[in-house]
Amino acid sequence: MNKIAIFPGSFDPFTIGHESIVLRALSLFDKLIIAVGNNETKKGFFPLAGRIAMINDVFAGNNKVEVVHYEDLTVSLCQRVGAMYILRGLRTSADFEYERAIAQVNKAMYDDIESVFILTLPEHTSINSSIVREILRYGGDASKFMPASIDPKKYL
Ligand code: ADP
Repeated sequence: MNKIAIFPGSFDPFTIGHESIVLRALSLFDKLIIAVGNNETKKGFFPLAGRIAMINDVFAGNNKVEVVHYEDLTVSLCQRVGAMYILRGLRTSADFEYERAIAQVNKAMYDDIESVFILTLPEHTSINSSIVREILRYGGDASKFMPASIDPKKYL
């Protein structure tokens, strides 16, 4: 059986924290679909098409990784593409509380789904997209926090 996982997020922008979670999860699944959605509580900075192009460029040549855009519930996307796993990254206890609620609700909506959490590397604990967005908004250099191949200006 093909083990397909969805890694949902807003990825605004995609950081080395996200990249590391994807790379470490690859050995667990046959296919990993990075699903770019809009988080209603976060104001977007990179346009959706830019975020998708950015992630496609990071994983160009990796045929286990696919990037999609979605606008419905994560569990609906899972049902549509036959994914049984939702991948998320955990940095702090606050992440845990937030993720626990989402995972339990997802499970209540779709019992076949399992959420899989990967703990961030210690050096990535403080990296989050909102801080990277602030750096970029004010013209700073965020290259330390973004995948090596990425020039953020290209995707704005
Ligand atoms: P969302 O808006 O859905 O929270 P994000 O793009 O902020 O989307 O995050 C997507 C996933 O990546 C979440 O599970 C989040 O906890 C995880 N994540 C974000 N930054 C890091 C990081 N530095 N290390 C590990 N996981 C991370």
